[in-house]
Amino acid sequence: MSTAEGTIVAEADTYTPPPNGWCCFHCGETFPFNRGGYRAARVHFGATPDWAPDCIERRTKPDNVLLDEARRSRIASTDFMRERDEAITEAEVAACTLQSWQSAIKGAKTSHDARCAYDSLEGRALAAEAVLGELQISAPDALLAARTAICGPGTYFPLPQLKGIEVIVWTPVEQELPDSDLTVMITLAPGSDEPTWLGYHDGEKWRDVDGMVVEVAYWANMVKGAA
Ligand SMILES: [Zn+2]
Repeated sequence: MSTAEGTIVAEADTYTPPPNGWCCFHCGETFPFNRGGYRAARVHFGATPDWAPDCIERRTKPDNVLLDEARRSRIASTDFMRERDEAITEAEVAACTLQSWQSAIKGAKTSHDARCAYDSLEGRALAAEAVLGELQISAPDALLAARTAICGPGTYFPLPQLKGIEVIVWTPVEQELPDSDLTVMITLAPGSDEPTWLGYHDGEKWRDVDGMVVEVAYWANMVKGAA
């Protein structure tokens, strides 16, 4: 029920209010078309039109049955109120959880956003672990210095070996060349049929493993392979 300028409007699934109020055809009781009348009519006729009117129930049901029904209704109402309060509390906790996610992960508007951001972070962490694993072999002093700078001294622990993950560092040929005749991985200049292949620098020219002269853009040390 809602009101607008003193007008009482019944909800769609309840009674349509007649212009001069309600009258019970069973007992003749009348209910004026105002707020009090509406409430009294609701009690008399029931919450929805499929209820038996109060006057009929009082004549057809013994008092003890009516009292029993009233008591069960009060219990159901109490249970419902408790469940409603629990649902409100749960919603508040969920809102707080989301709030903390939002402050931890910038831009996360929903728990789904937060989970996506977390997955992305996890992927980046995995890549970072692989890079750290490689640094531990190729530049342990630099890694130790970086870890000490971030975590303070005495917090360095060796990383576990990451099985099946190797980091490849591609070096532009203008920047640095490998030792002469050392077989390395090569990325050929754009337009080649085999963009990534094996080859070596003979001291003067780049050659592939078959000895053919090739134009190389990047090179990298051979992968070690899974041990
Ligand atoms: Zn009646």
